Amino acid sequence: MKDIENVCLEVDELDFDNYSPISPDIVLTSSFKFKNFDHYVKVNAKEEFAYTYTRDGNPTLNLLETKLARLEKGEAAQMFASGMGAISASILTLAKAGDHIIIVNTVYGSSVKLIKQLSKFGIESTKIDVSDTLEIFDYVKNNTSIIYFESPSSQKFEMLDLELISKFSKDKGIFTIIDNTWSTPLLQNPLVHGIDVVIHSCSKYIGGHSDIVGGVVISSKKIIDEIVEFGQVLLGATMSPMNAWLALRGLRTLPVRLKSQQETLQQVINFLQEDPRIERIYHPLCNGEQQNELAHKYLKGYGSLLGVVLKDANPEIIKRFIDSLEHFTLAYSWGGFESLVMSVYKGNNINEIKERGLSLGQLRMYIGLEDSELLISDLKNALDQAYQ
Ligand code: PLP
Repeated sequence: MKDIENVCLEVDELDFDNYSPISPDIVLTSSFKFKNFDHYVKVNAKEEFAYTYTRDGNPTLNLLETKLARLEKGEAAQMFASGMGAISASILTLAKAGDHIIIVNTVYGSSVKLIKQLSKFGIESTKIDVSDTLEIFDYVKNNTSIIYFESPSSQKFEMLDLELISKFSKDKGIFTIIDNTWSTPLLQNPLVHGIDVVIHSCSKYIGGHSDIVGGVVISSKKIIDEIVEFGQVLLGATMSPMNAWLALRGLRTLPVRLKSQQETLQQVINFLQEDPRIERIYHPLCNGEQQNELAHKYLKGYGSLLGVVLKDANPEIIKRFIDSLEHFTLAYSWGGFESLVMSVYKGNNINEIKERGLSLGQLRMYIGLEDSELLISDLKNALDQAYQ
């Protein structure tokens, strides 16, 4: 992990005429001047490289792309305005009318909605739930062109065997796309195991301070060139240079944040496992022996986002638990400095919860940078209030 951490920490070589900043410039511009007409002609003929327009490329974004590609051990990367921008650009570039996409397990809800929407362009999809990676291949059709998944998945944090998926898919010419946001490029590198495309929402751990929305796709140069040409330049979800700069700053502390959060996570899990009011915990550390083996094979550490199910939960218990928490904020998203909680029960969605195979008392909890004793006493107090 040390070599990878150094990519986050190294000081970039940025030499200008009479200064070399430790922190890179934010090149906050939409457009770039050509030197003269000849330069304009050469750049347009691709005889010479120059930045021309930020939707087509920007030095601050490129610095971030280079670092993220190195961290994920990919050939190239492309930034986007959001994780969903990265996901939609990748899928819309790689799929065509007549194709079939398989979505595996509980992936992020908006990704499922996006892929389902593609039926109006003649792209069909099947959303499947599997407990064993091999089951995925039963759903492959002649026109299956993409297997889209997360490992660990959202909500249930189930792992899949990346090497099995990549081997099977390569033989059949199917693209494999993983949303690797939970692991960050520091804890899992799917490209090394043969997966074709890795996506991150940079709004989470990479930004790390709950102040940006952004996304990235990392892959081979060939695939990224295709995604840039259509998914970035034409669909146009361009990340702002300011957000790219904040993500570069976020990367500096990613290794130390992850270490601290993993230690706190372990202590919180130890506490929750002993508490009789907790029905179950969803996290690769707690999902059983087979899942543990996959975690050991692929993960170099653990993300601090987990699922927690309250025993015999009803709407009143959920409300009392959440409203009693003082150090977990009820809010969407995760990956920032602050601990968060969110319940899958939103007041009027019991049918949807059943359809998604989730439980009424299921919460998504994110362990931030606060002290573990503080978080544990907060959880204990909220459980006492909920089950009084
Ligand atoms: N992937 C995962 C696992 C997420 O949790 C999210 C957002 O919550 C996204 C993708 C979407 O990212 P963004 O909000 O940056 O579009």
